[in-house]
Amino acid sequence: MRLKAEESKLAIAALYRVLGASLVCCLFYNVFFFYFPSKYLFDTIAPRLIMLSCLALLIYFYVNPRAHFKNTVRAFIALVIMSFVPPSLYFIVMAWQGKWLLIERLPPTSGITLSLLILGLMMLPRKQKKYVVLSWSVIAIPTFHYLIYHPAELHTERGYELVSLFGPACLILYVIYPYQSGIRHHMDEITFNLRRSEAEADRDFLTDVFNRRGLQHWLEQLTKNDQICVILIDVDHFKSINDRYGHTTGDKVLIEVASRMRSIYFEKHAIARWGGEEFIVIMVNPKKQSASNIGSMFQVALSNLPYKTVGKLTVSVGQSEIHSCEHFMDLLEQADKALYYAKNNGRNQAIIYNNTLS
Ligand code: GH3
Ligand code: MG
Ligand code: MG
Repeated sequence: MRLKAEESKLAIAALYRVLGASLVCCLFYNVFFFYFPSKYLFDTIAPRLIMLSCLALLIYFYVNPRAHFKNTVRAFIALVIMSFVPPSLYFIVMAWQGKWLLIERLPPTSGITLSLLILGLMMLPRKQKKYVVLSWSVIAIPTFHYLIYHPAELHTERGYELVSLFGPACLILYVIYPYQSGIRHHMDEITFNLRRSEAEADRDFLTDVFNRRGLQHWLEQLTKNDQICVILIDVDHFKSINDRYGHTTGDKVLIEVASRMRSIYFEKHAIARWGGEEFIVIMVNPKKQSASNIGSMFQVALSNLPYKTVGKLTVSVGQSEIHSCEHFMDLLEQADKALYYAKNNGRNQAIIYNNTLS
């Protein structure tokens, strides 16, 4: 969960940078064409339009980054594709029709197109990267094709420049990128498996509640200000259940106990198997008025209704006082004393710790 939030923070920061970089880039072109005006209207209009669009996207995104993240990415991709693909295609088509020479008319935007493509490959979410590769293919393949069929244009300075720019770019996009993407995919898989193993290592295999390790990790997330109450629950005469019905049935009972426990209390809490047929519940900041009978709530819910496999059984419960989570060990000791008292005084009851018990 925390990792997901970190990833989304990184993606948002990356998008801010991409938009900022595009804005600065267009600003540069605006200044350039202001001092060195071009005879083509497109050169004057396009950088201004793109700059304004980037600015609008930045403002839109700034207002509510999370809600607008996806839309901003989509709009940015559309903007980039529409700025470079249709004009390039237009020049290529016109050149094919013999209206002009490609090397003379194709706008000198290969550099910026390439930078944007590489920026996109590095920063865009994985699903959007295919648009980068696709838009590059739409420009590069027809250009290459044209140059091969027009050797007179290929063997010129611009022809060589285009080939030497497009060649390495194709290498990056079609060879290195899929390779890098494969490695990334593999790394993601390893991270996913690692996280799953970590989560599994925190769970009790039989009952799927936390084990001690998981409970320890869960406790580490609490802050000093969190007040907790510890409840220990032990199945009465569980050994005789095993003896009478067998170990497998005993296991089923433990699974049912854990599953009932999950449905009893709904405020923030954790359930763990403390060992054998003993469970622990830790409640966080329990409401004072209800805290006094939570232990008996568990006791009644676990003891009253018959179990599928063995019919009726009872549990004993020991409950601690409420205190800061820093005193977990002391509270555990209190709950243990209360449980011991419950066991020694007839079982099938919930006892809250008080000084007189000790
Ligand atoms: P008490 O009322 O005093 O708690 O008696 P008890 O019989 O419940 O307690 P005791 O500590 O004497 O016995 C606990 C039994 O729980 C012994 C052990 O075989 C059994 N047990 C521990 N872990 C498991 C388990 O994972 N599955 C099964 N089926 N039995 C288990
Ligand atoms: Mg027991
Ligand atoms: Mg026990």
